Amino acid sequence: MTKQWGDRIETLIDELRPELQELSEYIYEHPELGHEEVKSSKAHVDLLEKHGFEVEYPYLGISTAFKAVYKGGKAGPTLAYLSEYDALPGIGHGCGHNILGATDTGAGIVLSKLVDEVGGTVIVLGTPAEETNGDKVTMADADTFDDVDVAFCTHPSDKNYASGKSMAMEAIEFRFYGKTAHAAATPFEGKNALEACINFFNSVSTLRQQLRPTARVHGVIKEGGEAANIIPDYTRAEFYVRAMDMPYLNELREKVIRCAEAGALAADCKMEWSHYEASYKNLITNETLSALYNDNMHSLGVEMVTEPRESMGSMDMGNVSQVVPAINPYFEITNGKSVSGHTTEFRECTLTEEAYEAMEKTIAGLTYTALDLITDSEKLHQVKEEFLNNVKV
Ligand SMILES: [Zn+2]
Ligand SMILES: [Zn+2]
Repeated sequence: MTKQWGDRIETLIDELRPELQELSEYIYEHPELGHEEVKSSKAHVDLLEKHGFEVEYPYLGISTAFKAVYKGGKAGPTLAYLSEYDALPGIGHGCGHNILGATDTGAGIVLSKLVDEVGGTVIVLGTPAEETNGDKVTMADADTFDDVDVAFCTHPSDKNYASGKSMAMEAIEFRFYGKTAHAAATPFEGKNALEACINFFNSVSTLRQQLRPTARVHGVIKEGGEAANIIPDYTRAEFYVRAMDMPYLNELREKVIRCAEAGALAADCKMEWSHYEASYKNLITNETLSALYNDNMHSLGVEMVTEPRESMGSMDMGNVSQVVPAINPYFEITNGKSVSGHTTEFRECTLTEEAYEAMEKTIAGLTYTALDLITDSEKLHQVKEEFLNNVKV
């Protein structure tokens, strides 16, 4: 990136910073759970409209989702930035989605000030409910990314992790049906749906011994019966089944379902299952795109951590990464301290000067990367080639 662009981008970010800080703090003060992000989505939409974006809101029939588009004066690639703004129960923005939204929306706004000159289209997507029933899944399944060349989402963290992997996940509910009876007087007339459910848990524990070390199967009993003197005729368990790739997840799901069938069979009960939340695919980082972003962050004095992470969860960005080249890097907001996400301590970090400086650097890195792709068609071609080879099989 030339010095001339660097200075322009720095000025644009400096000018925008008070509005982004205001957005992040407003959302922090009004934490809203997934699909209830009425104020949070509106605040993003207002800012994007003020900066000349055409906004579709609600989007895809989802009341707290939006699609904001800024078309540049010249032809060029389409770059999408994905904003999240849902909070957690009890602890508000313990995952830092207030500053996540401000950062990704901020990057879209900064790039929109340049595409009239360099070409291209900027899209900012408001993607609700990342913590529960993420609508990036809905968008990946719809036509949202058909015309998008590259998608970015950045997340606050306690380290500058390069975009890596996330686990594929299915949320499955298992329901067991038996027959009530007096537990003391006539137990022989009953069919115990709780025993079926307990058998299921024990079968999963047996299965777990032979699973790949990276796989995860974990559940809770949500309904376990009414009273100790009644044989339960209905129980319900919720599970998450996770694996590092889709083929193994598909295999694992079938094995877990067989455990539930076995549990029901042993207790002479019936079993049904269904999904209770959206399923997330594993994140496939576009390494060409990731290397470009990491180099740009390096030029801004930020070293990205490229070693594989020890712990990981699942995210709806995974589904996006399987329909369009994408990265999901992290930016450090904890001033060198080790602070886990989903805590009140992490939430407080989002309001610090260090966090805002990290936000500014991240926006600069995203903008540099976007300009590289717009001005160097060979680079964009390499990104797409990798996607076609790795993802679209
Ligand atoms: Zn998060
Ligand atoms: Zn989270």
